[in-house]
Amino acid sequence: MIPATPGSPWYRKLHWQILVAMVVGILAGAIGGEAAALRVGWLGTLFITLLKMVVVPLVLASIVSGIGSIGSSATFGRLFGKTLGFYVLSSLLAILTGLALANLLRPGDGIDLAGASGQALPEGLQTPSSVADLLLSMVPENIVAAAARADLLAVIVFAILFGIAVGGLPESPRAQMLGFFESLFQTMLRLTDMVLKVAPIGVFGLVTRAVATFGLSAFRSMALYMAMIAFGLAIHFFLTLPLLLRLLGGIRASVHYRRISEPLAIAFSTSSSAATLPSTIAAVEEKVGVSRRVSSFVLPMGATVNMDGTALYECAGVLFIAQALGFDLSFAQQAIVVVTSLLASIGAAAVPSAGLVVIFIVLEAVGLRGAQVETMVGFMLAVDRPLDMARTAVNVTSDTVAAAIIARSEGETGVDVEPAPAG
Ligand code: ASP
Repeated sequence: MIPATPGSPWYRKLHWQILVAMVVGILAGAIGGEAAALRVGWLGTLFITLLKMVVVPLVLASIVSGIGSIGSSATFGRLFGKTLGFYVLSSLLAILTGLALANLLRPGDGIDLAGASGQALPEGLQTPSSVADLLLSMVPENIVAAAARADLLAVIVFAILFGIAVGGLPESPRAQMLGFFESLFQTMLRLTDMVLKVAPIGVFGLVTRAVATFGLSAFRSMALYMAMIAFGLAIHFFLTLPLLLRLLGGIRASVHYRRISEPLAIAFSTSSSAATLPSTIAAVEEKVGVSRRVSSFVLPMGATVNMDGTALYECAGVLFIAQALGFDLSFAQQAIVVVTSLLASIGAAAVPSAGLVVIFIVLEAVGLRGAQVETMVGFMLAVDRPLDMARTAVNVTSDTVAAAIIARSEGETGVDVEPAPAG
């Protein structure tokens, strides 16, 4: 990361560079169209590949060194309980926001989809079809294969168990193992900083391509639906999460949000919580000031299971489809949508469009299936990119908020102290 010393000019700060890259990318995509996308899109792909290259060893080292040093199982249990409790609370609040908005605005009523063009769902995204499936997919049969597939949830489960085992070792082997994983973690964090230096170039490529490949005609008929999701995400970002920060952590959102501006910008441009994770870890430890003990646990887990933006989207999206197809979901059915939206957001992979793929879990739970439903999901995919960018940013924010609140509750008084450092 470029050092954010108070004296350095704004253009040397990474988040400003990323912001400028976004603006230039929007202009290049809008003016240059497909040709520009073809010319610079690979820069975005290269950036995402570099981030993915870092993520598995970083997550492994972070969790093992963090959990291995926790020591007592009582402390671990307490951290686990708090983390899970916050995830469920914040996701549920997001879902209820989506539920309320979908019922108030009813964006699906009288929708005319004749003018819109749908898209085929991306192949290769796996959707766990039941809760048992989801749990089974979390435990790796072969850790090397799971790491090779970059199956983050499986790597995390292994790393947590491995970290607990390390924590239970006698003094000498424990110190050796911790020393190794701590050094590996420092190395991976340094590598992350190196990759992040080229973030503006990667973001420029990503945004140019995203803008150039949008089908603008689809936007018109889906405008109210898009506005509803955007509005809901804004409520969660600007109201709910700041309230939680304030009430549970005694932290001002303006302070916290400034310090996570880098991961926010990267989440927004990559649409992937997993690709953003290296930057999230770096910002939460180095700028927010959360200890490794807490961040190593909360952030990797959060990136894969705590997705507030996605949860809101599942609920509002399903209600939208039901309305567009003329079904009125009863109170009980809406309750099922709430619960399965939570599960679907947990099951969604931290990659682009994953939220839209797992929507089938929720649709299925209330019996919405068939060709018409698939067409509707296709329409939603046509306009999904900007929504995906926004919900990924909300997903990542909820993780950093969780880390800050939990760290404060563990007595870490140095977290998000004011005044925020210049930057
Ligand atoms: N792209 C989101 C993420 O990685 C998941 C989603 O599609 O909702 O966090």
